[in-house]
Amino acid sequence: MKPTSSIRIGYGWDSHEFKRGIPLKIGGVTLEHPKGLGGHSDGDVLLHAITDALLGALAAPDIGSLFPPSDPQWKGADSTVFLKEALTRVRQAGYRIANLDSTLILSEPKIGPHTAAIRARISELVGIPGASIGIKAKTPEGMGTDNAAIAHVAVLLEEVERPAKPKISNNKTKSKKA
Ligand SMILES: [Zn+2]
Repeated sequence: MKPTSSIRIGYGWDSHEFKRGIPLKIGGVTLEHPKGLGGHSDGDVLLHAITDALLGALAAPDIGSLFPPSDPQWKGADSTVFLKEALTRVRQAGYRIANLDSTLILSEPKIGPHTAAIRARISELVGIPGASIGIKAKTPEGMGTDNAAIAHVAVLLEEVERPAKPKISNNKTKSKKA
């Protein structure tokens, strides 16, 4: 299905539960913390939400449909694999990312000190400048989700300009129709 608009918005949401003794990966960065995020892959809640936002913008199947948790090949998978598939689909559809914005909701660790590293890594992964990547973090006041990390992501895609048609130097020349 070819999108018809020159801009497309996408939205993604994900959550994972904290588990002791596994590495904590957020936005492709490993953070120092006694607990990590459980899940069939590496549990990178932010990369999953970005992936789903990109897929959603294209009205493509979501991350769970493309990479089913029931498939053993995705056990412990590096989530950049999922993101790269979504980015390939964005390119193939003739779009690029204009900007993306995210909000993380987790009680700990504090994300502030890691924002620059996460932004830099996402910039590298998705190929847009850090100035076009919003990273915000909140604590889950009153939500009762202290043992989970949640990510919300919005992305804007814009159509890539197609190469200009060759200029007609002589106005008598008409393009032939096939
Ligand atoms: Zn996930």
